[in-house]
Amino acid sequence: MKDNYLPRYTIGTDCFKAIKGIVSPFGNKVSLIYGEKAYAAVKDKLLKELDGLEIVHEEIYGKEASYTNIDRLLENADLKKADLIIAIGGGKCLDVAKTVGDKLDKPVFTVASIASTCAAVTKIAILHNDDGSFKEIYRLKTPPVHCFIDSEVIAKAPAEYFWAGMGDTMAKHVECVFSAKNDVLDFESEFGRTISILCYEPIIQSGLKAYNDVKTHQVSQELEEVIKSIIIATGTVSISVHPDYNSALAHALYYGMTKREWMERKHLHGEIVSYGTLVQLLIDEQFEELRRVYAFNKSVGLPVCLKDLDLEQSDPLDDILDATIVNQELDHIPYPITKEMVRNTIDKLEDYKG
Ligand SMILES: [Zn+2]
Repeated sequence: MKDNYLPRYTIGTDCFKAIKGIVSPFGNKVSLIYGEKAYAAVKDKLLKELDGLEIVHEEIYGKEASYTNIDRLLENADLKKADLIIAIGGGKCLDVAKTVGDKLDKPVFTVASIASTCAAVTKIAILHNDDGSFKEIYRLKTPPVHCFIDSEVIAKAPAEYFWAGMGDTMAKHVECVFSAKNDVLDFESEFGRTISILCYEPIIQSGLKAYNDVKTHQVSQELEEVIKSIIIATGTVSISVHPDYNSALAHALYYGMTKREWMERKHLHGEIVSYGTLVQLLIDEQFEELRRVYAFNKSVGLPVCLKDLDLEQSDPLDDILDATIVNQELDHIPYPITKEMVRNTIDKLEDYKG
């Protein structure tokens, strides 16, 4: 059996006007699970539109997407009475609420408070230990029923997550196309690969304008287009393609980079990945796309060389490259990639001028 679940969403500064009509068929007893800041940002607009529904439970999810928080929510007697869950927050909050909804068999609706990942629409939850270290990927039976994106809320959220989110999103297309290169794809994987262009072109075209709009808290058409790339297009690719086609060298190199324990304290996930996208394009000799992504990264301040990630070219990078080439994201690629190939490509990129 094969199936696919395509994201349903409503985006706009007035998106909550649709929420009652969309959630009501699932019942009228609502649980709200949220991140503190996210809830503060949407509360006035959202609660007005939920008038007539009964909020039987509301609670901050916690600070980490961990089983400590999931188990606490699962034991809550008020939450058990709810017909449906509305989750309001960033990736961690949404992943906690999605897991809770899955375990209690309650439909989950998401309100995305930042645009940096596709957590609002995907069928997986990325779970961590209480100390923030990675625990596991939890697979849900179904994805969230519907995602609400208030573009005014995203425009007011911290610009750095949006910036890094653009880098992570562009990698989705480059890595998906690369890893699927020599394969005959089934309908679902072909569907995802075809859609993946929407993780890429809208950002190259409108990303700089959208980023400047987030920095100045302006809602614009460009901003909404890029938000849809980050959340909806990436989510559609993730849900649709075979796991072999979700990532490749850009993410493998990211995992390698995290061998330096300071890396993730100084740099965001999507920022590091966006450097890997350049390495991925250069190793595969996609010179025209390399030129475009390099120019885009420069325009918005995403990394284009080792120094941008606080690394030196004289650094042998052995620990990073050893971890990169054994990373599972390289298990399914069109030709073998060796440590030497990655090192040579990194050196070539240091000399690249765009
Ligand atoms: Zn990523």
